[in-house]
Amino acid sequence: NQHLLAIDELRVNFKTYGGEVQAVRGVSFHVDKGETVAIVGESGCGKSVTAQAIMGLIPNPPGKIVGGKIVFDGQDISGLSKKELLGIRGTQIGMVFQDPMTALNPTMKVGTQIVEGFVRSQKVTREEARQRAIEMLRLVGIPDPEKRIDQYPHQFSGGMRQRVVIAIALACQPRLVIADEPTTALDVTIQAQILDLLKRLQAEQELSVVIITHDLGVVAEIAHRMVVMYAGMVVETGTVEDVFANPRHPYTWGLMRSLPRLDEGEKQRLVPIDGTPPDLFQPPKGCPFAARCDFAMEICDQQMPAKNDFGAGHEAACWLHDPRAPRIDELVAAGR
Ligand code: SF4
Ligand code: MG
Repeated sequence: NQHLLAIDELRVNFKTYGGEVQAVRGVSFHVDKGETVAIVGESGCGKSVTAQAIMGLIPNPPGKIVGGKIVFDGQDISGLSKKELLGIRGTQIGMVFQDPMTALNPTMKVGTQIVEGFVRSQKVTREEARQRAIEMLRLVGIPDPEKRIDQYPHQFSGGMRQRVVIAIALACQPRLVIADEPTTALDVTIQAQILDLLKRLQAEQELSVVIITHDLGVVAEIAHRMVVMYAGMVVETGTVEDVFANPRHPYTWGLMRSLPRLDEGEKQRLVPIDGTPPDLFQPPKGCPFAARCDFAMEICDQQMPAKNDFGAGHEAACWLHDPRAPRIDELVAAGR
C-alpha cells in the first residue's frame, strides 16, 4: 500500500529581478494506483509549478526545488539529473499539456511522434512501431488511424490534436499521467469529449492521473480526490465527494460560489472572489487567504493555521476549525 506518487513538503523558488518568489511553499499530497487527483486553484497558485517539479521540468535557473521530496514508486526523484529523469519521464510518467500545438512538432508526422519515445525505450521494428502508432490512435478515438498516422499536426482539429498528445503520453504505457489544463484551450463540446476519453483510459489502463485545473467542473467530472492550492500552499484536500458536499476552507467556499449553476442557465455569471492573492516575494506569516477572507480573525494574520483533520483524508488549514474559534454560524449571524 505504498503510494505511487508522494509529494512531501515540496518547496520551489524562482529567482527574478524583483527578488526570489516562493512559488510552492511546503506542498504535500499523494496519488495512488488507478486514482485521479485534481490540483485546483487560481492562476499563480503554484499548481503548474508543482506539476513541472514532478516532471523535472523546473527551469534551473531561475527555478529551483529548495525543499521536500517527490517520491515516485518508492524513489525520491526530486534530486535526479535531467538524464536520469529522462528514463522515468515519458516511460513511467506521461504528460499532457494545455496547448496541443506547442506539444507537437509541426514538421513531423503524428505517427512518428507517437512512437518516438516507445522506439527509444524498446527495441522494435519499423512495422511494429507503425502498428503501435495505429493502435494508439485507435485507442484515443481518432477515426481512420491507418491514414491519419502519416498526416501532420496542422491536418488535425484542436480536439483531435489533443487526442494525439494523449496518445503520445500513453504510448510507453506510463503508470502516471500528468495533465496540465488539458481541456482549457478547447471549446466546451470538445472539452467534454477529451474528459470522457481521459476518464475511460484512466479506468481501462488502471492509470494514475494528476490533473491540474482552475475549473471545478472538470474536477467534479473526472477526479476521485482533490487538492485545493492557494498562494503556493495546500489549503484543503479530500475526496471530491467530501469537499463538494462539505467544503471546510473559506477559499474553497469562494471557488464553489464561482461555479456556474447549470440550473440557472448559461447566463449565470461567475462570482469572482474579491481581492488578489498575496505577494509571494514576501509571503504573509499567517494564513495566506487572510486579506481576502470574510471570516478572518486576529490570529489569522499572526500565525499559520494548522491542518485540521475531518476524517477520510479530508483536511483543511483554517483557524475557524480551532476549538477556540467562534462558531461559523455566530460569525455569519454577526454579519460576516
Ligand atoms: Fe480565513 Fe482565518 Fe481561515 Fe485563513 S485561517 S481562511 S483568514 S478564517
Ligand atoms: Mg498554469
